[in-house]
Amino acid sequence: MATSVTPIVEKLEPMSRGRTDSRKRKPKQLAIINELCTGCAGSPVCVGYCPVEQCMFWVPDDEHPPFGRIEVDKSTCIGCAKCTAKGPDGMFLDGCPWDAIEMVNVEEWEKGHAVELPAVPDRPVSEWGWVPSAYV
Ligand code: SF4
Ligand code: SF4
Repeated sequence: MATSVTPIVEKLEPMSRGRTDSRKRKPKQLAIINELCTGCAGSPVCVGYCPVEQCMFWVPDDEHPPFGRIEVDKSTCIGCAKCTAKGPDGMFLDGCPWDAIEMVNVEEWEKGHAVELPAVPDRPVSEWGWVPSAYV
């Protein structure tokens, strides 16, 4: 009998480092990386602003090494928007200077991806080195 295996994404460096206990409930918004992400030539500016352990991480472009991009683990992101330069009312903040990070409504993201995100991370910190691909 065939068994179903959940596809996972391995998190590679550079990645964000920080707290592991910040997400106490499902945030109202999440960070998504759009097609403008260049990976900052391997030195991503954004990861330094993320206060959550292994929330932002490197995904290599297998077809065009050594290029790659940054992705966000949507099961650990707290929606703080520290990684984006777009603040409320057009305010300019620190964070990605290339317009490659957008904050999106969680419910809309879940609907669009047919995924229900966990309210708090659903695996122990020792397993944060990977993420189910549905949460990326
Ligand atoms: S999201 Fe922005 S800051 Fe982060 S790697 Fe991509 S382009 Fe660079
Ligand atoms: S919104 Fe906050 S927690 Fe989420 S990826 Fe950006 S900096 Fe990290």
